[in-house]
Amino acid sequence: MTDVLIAGGAVMGASVAFWLKRLDPTLSVTVIEPDPGYATSSTALSAAGIRSQFTNAVNIEISRFGIDFIRDFARYTGPEGGVPDLGLRENGYLFLASTETGAATLESLAELQRSLGAGTEVLDPAGLGARFPWMSLDGISAGSFGPRDEGFFDNMGLLAGLKNAARAAGAVWLRDRVTAFERGDGPITAALLEQGGRREAQVFVNCAGPRCAALMRSVGLNLPVEPRKRTVFVVDAPKARHPDAPLIVDPTGIWFRPEHGQWLAATVPATDGPCAEDDFDPDHALWEDAVWPALYTRAEGFAEARVTRMWAGHYAFNTLDQNAILGRNPQAPNLYHANGFSGHGLQQAPAVGRGIAEQIVHGDWVTLDLSSLGVQRVLDGQPFAEAAIV
Ligand SMILES: Cc1cc2nc3c(=O)[nH]c(=O)nc-3n(C[C@H](O)[C@H](O)[C@H](O)COP(=O)(O)OP(=O)(O)OC[C@H]3O[C@@H](n4cnc5c(N)ncnc54)[C@H](O)[C@@H]3O)c2cc1C
Repeated sequence: MTDVLIAGGAVMGASVAFWLKRLDPTLSVTVIEPDPGYATSSTALSAAGIRSQFTNAVNIEISRFGIDFIRDFARYTGPEGGVPDLGLRENGYLFLASTETGAATLESLAELQRSLGAGTEVLDPAGLGARFPWMSLDGISAGSFGPRDEGFFDNMGLLAGLKNAARAAGAVWLRDRVTAFERGDGPITAALLEQGGRREAQVFVNCAGPRCAALMRSVGLNLPVEPRKRTVFVVDAPKARHPDAPLIVDPTGIWFRPEHGQWLAATVPATDGPCAEDDFDPDHALWEDAVWPALYTRAEGFAEARVTRMWAGHYAFNTLDQNAILGRNPQAPNLYHANGFSGHGLQQAPAVGRGIAEQIVHGDWVTLDLSSLGVQRVLDGQPFAEAAIV
């Protein structure tokens, strides 16, 4: 019997384990993870960005802690983490609007973000042209730019440091898969493992990423989370090299950012919906149909762009409100969730891991109140929407 069993040992499972051992070193923590290489985990397939530019306060505050944690990673994880630096590149995010209404929305969001410590500036087309002279601003009414505390970092470094530090503190990673939970009248009693074992625990945490809902079905519970495929293109454009560019979110929905002399670019497919759990085939057609035309519109240098590589990863897409589903499940009170991140979970791992560990150890959120992202709203069918989903 372990005190806490965590299903899924990528960034979220590792962060929960890390914070649990920090808050109560006497707890026994077992993490079940089938894939030590993380080949299909969202953590490994992510675009590794962090931003303060969200539309609700709690997500802004989660990322405010995230940036502090990323910046100060070596101090948080110590020498046991083995990752002295997460290579943060503070290039910022730039959200572009194409209408006056869109510009006004960016203004009011920037005010909210600044009130929580972010540095968001809203620039008119002249201001955008001065700051990003290489960009074509046809049809753009405004852009909100985060000149600090936003950018990209080493996703696998974040995972490795948290995992190393958690293990050094005594957390155990087992190479296996939870095929089902076992449940009596309310609480979860055990996790059944693919290799045949049955593990009992006081507390269970679902950190299974895009596969989290399948685990819930094993005990007759629903989670409105499904895997949605996102294809990321690695683009070489010798006439459009702007290594200091931010991650740009175009009004067409495509995003692009610099990466080692090239670019990463992606978009949401026109017909978005759930995909098979094992479907990681990139959607090649998106390049010519959507991504390349939008890039070319934004900068002529993309005329000669070519795709050098591409990959597909899964968002754990929360169909209710595209927001995280966190904490204790009232239907099974010893079951906790860190699920449904809908494409912004990497940056949320530090604050979410801390929050879940606080709920388990202290019985409630302590440092940051995450109750608006709790399970109850999902059971009530009450969306708590995040509009800035990239
Ligand atoms: C293309 C793409 C771009 C993204 N860009 C960003 C970004 O810029 N910024 C950002 O913050 N976020 C981004 N995200 C989202 C972010 O990657 C995820 O929200 C985050 O990594 C979620 O971590 P996780 O540990 O919950 O899930 P995962 O990383 O998916 O890990 C889940 C783990 O659970 C394991 N598992 C699955 N089923 C079971 C089971 N039954 N038993 C035991 N283990 C199981 C899996 O093997 C996996 O390792 C992006 C995601 C994608 C796909």
